Amino acid sequence: MAIHPDIEKVLVTEDQLRERNAQLGAAISADYADKDLLVIGVLKGAAWFLSDLTRNLSCDFTVDYMAVSSYGAAHKSSGVVRIMKDLEVPLEGRHVLIAEDILDTGLTLKYLVRNFLGRGAASVEIAACVLKEGAQEEAIDLRYVGFVLANEFVVGYGLDYAQRYRGLPYIGRLRSSVYQNA
Ligand code: 5GP
Repeated sequence: MAIHPDIEKVLVTEDQLRERNAQLGAAISADYADKDLLVIGVLKGAAWFLSDLTRNLSCDFTVDYMAVSSYGAAHKSSGVVRIMKDLEVPLEGRHVLIAEDILDTGLTLKYLVRNFLGRGAASVEIAACVLKEGAQEEAIDLRYVGFVLANEFVVGYGLDYAQRYRGLPYIGRLRSSVYQNA
């Protein structure tokens, strides 16, 4: 498939995503073989990662979604989290794995981990498709990480810019002209 004309560089290819999801899926399946696993996707961005990751799980699990939004500028996290859609199931005694598209400042995930433990989850771990190197103010405990990328804005595989580019099957960097024309 041709690369989208707005993409300057592909940073993670479709093949790399497929291979890494298989590896992460195998590790998660082993770790949760005898546990009551609930995978929680953070909408909208994590939906692509969650669906590919869970296709690689051989253990039993259920899925729920949460939508949060951080206030503020289009391509910077503000750290203020607002719940737009809450979970449908209780967390009491469940082993939760949060599937997240990207860990930037980590503020969204820090908030969610605290929130889920407060609802009585037995454990809360994180699977992040991308970790942005050096973007976190405090260390955050990431059990499963797909790819470590430089601290720059990326799109594709669920990640958007102004709601566009989520469907790209790879992760890439936008041309600067896209921001200038916005
Ligand atoms: P954090 O709270 O870790 O700073 O940010 C989490 C959310 O900000 C991500 O789930 C994602 O929606 C958005 N975000 C952070 N970095 C990027 C990026 O490089 N590209 C895109 N498209 N979204 C990002």
